Amino acid sequence: MLQETGRKYLRSGVLPHMWCSGCGIGIMMGALLRSFEELEYKNKDIVVVTGIGCTGKLDDYVTTNALHGTHGRALAFATGIKAFKPDLKVVVLMGDGDCVTIGGNHFIHAARRNIDLTAIVVNNFNFGMTGGQASGTTSGGKITSTTLYGNPENDIDISALACVAGANYVARITPYHGWELKQYIKEGLMKKGFSLIEMISPCPTNYGKYNKMENPLQMLRWLKEKGVSSEDYARLGESEKDEYFVIGKLCDRDIPDFNTRYEEIRVRALSS
Ligand code: SF4
Repeated sequence: MLQETGRKYLRSGVLPHMWCSGCGIGIMMGALLRSFEELEYKNKDIVVVTGIGCTGKLDDYVTTNALHGTHGRALAFATGIKAFKPDLKVVVLMGDGDCVTIGGNHFIHAARRNIDLTAIVVNNFNFGMTGGQASGTTSGGKITSTTLYGNPENDIDISALACVAGANYVARITPYHGWELKQYIKEGLMKKGFSLIEMISPCPTNYGKYNKMENPLQMLRWLKEKGVSSEDYARLGESEKDEYFVIGKLCDRDIPDFNTRYEEIRVRALSS
């Protein structure tokens, strides 16, 4: 199965990939390609859209259609593709810096518009590629290369933001939970409307180094311990909650997506 996945969706001659040892992005790529295979997607029907950053390099490795955009704008490019070619399966791959720091406004409006895209956000709490600067998801007090004595800002909850903005499907998981990661990606791909899979991910090279988790195994253990179900999270004391995060499916509904509404309006306008 794995061999077959590699042959079908991976470009030959490009491995080894550029991601650091212990990074979660490769695990996400494996889960994504296995999802394509299990859903029997044809390469010509898929468009992988990326922005800038470590996650944004993923389009280099796949044989599907791909568009490598500018920083923070992957969702804007993907929206244009989906609006013009609704039959394509459009997947948008971003890091937290790309998605909700540089491109936060595009993210809110893609979810609000409920455009039929699947966004996968690798959230490692910093701008990994450029040296570990604080991003919009760096928690208050955490150390990064630009907050050496602690981050004075609060972080954005990416999944909660997508839910309230109007996304049809939202799930959060980690690379430690590989089977669930693939299942959520598959459900997101099959869902009509905007779907978000947030993968809380290790960046041992930068975020880990500054926060006493330079060893990739330490980061993976940290994700295993801190990712809890919503029931377990509710049982935590208020002072503990900052250190944990909820994993699982957070939102699943069927509000009509952008293309469906657009088509209804187009038909109405033509018949009036
Ligand atoms: S810098 Fe961080 S996010 Fe980038 S490849 Fe290395 S571990 Fe992954």
